[in-house]
Amino acid sequence: KRDRLMKINDLTWEIPEKYKNCMRVPGRMYLSEELVDIVEEDTYEQVANVACLPGIVKYSLAMPEAHLGYGFPIGGVAGIDIEDGVISPGGVGFDINCGVKTLKTNLTLEDVQGGVEELINRLFSNIPSGVGSESKLKLSHDELDYLLENGLDWALENGYAKQDDVIHCEEEGCITTADANKVSNKAKKRGLSQVGTLGSGNHFLEVQYVDEVIDQDTAEKFGLTKNQIIVMIHTGSRGFGHQVCTDYVKKLEKATKKYNIDIPDKQLACAPFDSKEGQDYFAAMACAANYAWVNRQVIASWVRDVFHNYYGQDTELETLYDVAHNIAKKETHTVNGEKKELIVHRKGATRAFGPNHKELPSSYQETGQPVMIPGNMGAPSYILRGTQFAMENTFGSTCHGAGRKMSRSQAKREYWGETVQKELSKQKIYVKATHGAVIAEEAPGAYKNPDKVVNVAHNLGISKKVVKLKPLGVAKG
Ligand code: 5GP
Ligand code: MN
Ligand code: MN
Repeated sequence: KRDRLMKINDLTWEIPEKYKNCMRVPGRMYLSEELVDIVEEDTYEQVANVACLPGIVKYSLAMPEAHLGYGFPIGGVAGIDIEDGVISPGGVGFDINCGVKTLKTNLTLEDVQGGVEELINRLFSNIPSGVGSESKLKLSHDELDYLLENGLDWALENGYAKQDDVIHCEEEGCITTADANKVSNKAKKRGLSQVGTLGSGNHFLEVQYVDEVIDQDTAEKFGLTKNQIIVMIHTGSRGFGHQVCTDYVKKLEKATKKYNIDIPDKQLACAPFDSKEGQDYFAAMACAANYAWVNRQVIASWVRDVFHNYYGQDTELETLYDVAHNIAKKETHTVNGEKKELIVHRKGATRAFGPNHKELPSSYQETGQPVMIPGNMGAPSYILRGTQFAMENTFGSTCHGAGRKMSRSQAKREYWGETVQKELSKQKIYVKATHGAVIAEEAPGAYKNPDKVVNVAHNLGISKKVVKLKPLGVAKG
């Protein structure tokens, strides 16, 4: 499989444009030698396929955790010209605006010692989790439409957010071009009952501590110190986003034919960005993105309640940042020395804007944005910062996790939930999940080694490590 890869340097591999007739740009993958061996062959194929999309500029990119996805690989990034290019739901994924919200507390490891199990149990029972989990909120149809178009403003107005939460959220928690009229009733019906729910499997709510400060200066600016307790919330737009994606994959399959777009894989269904179909998808996707920002915020507000009840009302839980890792965004980037408006698809990839970017809050102008990269429930997670190098090479993007090494079904064959749980408990990590099967699917061994994946991003410079976190307890859907 290495035949098709051209080594550019130790961490950069290229799939030449001539590999496939339809390729418009080369593919570029950021991998260590060791990770090259792990990546499935079909993932390379997917990177090459994305390079065939009309309007794609520079490279079809894959971040270090690259693995097989729907159409685009997970870890896939594509910058596509908005004037003569396309938008593709496969480049966003089914869980639109799946992402991570990180809260920093004024508690230390010492403060929570002996109480983690009780804390996780309380979090688990206060935040609905599991496949079809239902919300504690009852929204009317009009309220949902308002939420879809206004994102975190809805949370602010309804007492689930503070202004500080809004400032420390990508896009301030609202893509303003969202249009609820572009969303099916079926999607809305699914969305009504799931605001403030974690979902299942890969989604989690984890209590962690800062195990190591790697970049002292930036850590200070982020307000992070050794042994500080951190809460990481990982979830997305639930059944709502899934339905939006399903609806628009069908519509865009038709549009692909209508506009005579030649694609090498049906899963790359797309429409010209400036066509009706393209704009409709973009407006519906934005609703799902806003829904996910509200979802994580409502969960954060319940996390605060639980901490206040358990550790006292003066316990602080400030938002470090909230970032999407499944999304398409309109952004300006420099391409061959020229400023260009692009629709940047990030599919299992995190935005990693560097210092002085006008879209970042003033608190992160000097450092670049915080980047959160979860590892797995038995291993470290990291907080990094975005860089100028990412702006120049990856449209301001980096990896979003360690990435799976095994499919869910394979993991269930290899692991038994209770055994995994016991192993983790020996390492003083408490896991609470709806089913043993979830724990098996999510076993640490089902994921790549997060240290190795994050090191590629760090050594390459598409984001730089700030602190290393270790898990204390996790609530899984
Ligand atoms: P995804 O969005 O692709 O499902 O997951 C993002 C990343 O989260 C995965 O690649 C994996 O590295 C990480 N992850 C999955 N489950 C857990 C967990 O329970 N705890 C932590 N810290 N990370 C996890
Ligand atoms: Mn998700
Ligand atoms: Mn995710």
